[in-house]
Amino acid sequence: MSTATVVGAGLFGAATARELALRGWQVTLIEQYAPGTVRSASGGDTRLSRAAHGEQHWYAEMARDARTRWLELEEETGVRIWEPVGLAWFAQRTDGFEARSRASLDALGVPYHWLEPQEARELFPSLQTDDLEAVLYEPEAGVLHGRRATQLLVELGERDGVRLENHRCLPSDDPGADVVVWACGPWLASLFPEQIEL
Ligand SMILES: Cc1cc2nc3c(=O)[nH]c(=O)nc-3n(C[C@H](O)[C@H](O)[C@H](O)COP(=O)(O)OP(=O)(O)OC[C@H]3O[C@@H](n4cnc5c(N)ncnc54)[C@H](O)[C@@H]3O)c2cc1C
Repeated sequence: MSTATVVGAGLFGAATARELALRGWQVTLIEQYAPGTVRSASGGDTRLSRAAHGEQHWYAEMARDARTRWLELEEETGVRIWEPVGLAWFAQRTDGFEARSRASLDALGVPYHWLEPQEARELFPSLQTDDLEAVLYEPEAGVLHGRRATQLLVELGERDGVRLENHRCLPSDDPGADVVVWACGPWLASLFPEQIEL
């Protein structure tokens, strides 16, 4: 059996560890504090998730896929991690980020509305639209409860065979596995100063 050590139990490490375990790997997940710690980037209560990413089609595709998986996780566990609130982008130009996002949304079949300022005001009565050309409204965008989602992934990972350890791991440590995944978020720059600039 292949073995992996995943360092860091933020969203990326937690998801990677669980996915590897589901694929039959023997996985150890190492976290220096606690999964979803408020010190981590994933540790905030809310994180936005939307498909509009300008011309970055690959990013839009991944965001959409992630949304599907978060909803599946919510359904599977019965734990509320997703708030289906929608998201509105304020376009001050008709050829800016918002307009350039439309091709990817069209290609992926992501529902959206391209609203004239007047239409946007009807939807959001308190909105000041004097400086807006349009509003891109994504009704299926939402807010993920980041900290809870991270903890949930770790809990499910442990159920699926991931072994969680609580200590700080350094690049000089013996990895004790075939593969080491450094999912350390903002700590990566201090761990690998020669590879990552601060
Ligand atoms: C204020 C803020 C708002 C954001 N808003 C959004 C948003 O709305 N939408 C969005 O998509 N993204 C948003 N992001 C970005 C998103 O939160 C991050 O991209 C994502 O959470 C990164 O997850 P991660 O697992 O890579 O890192 P982290 O969540 O930081 O996890 C890294 C983990 O590694 C652990 N660790 C580090 N070094 C070691 C070590 N040596 N040994 C053991 N453990 C270690 C840490 O303790 C931590 O738990 C936001 C980020 C911030 C900071």
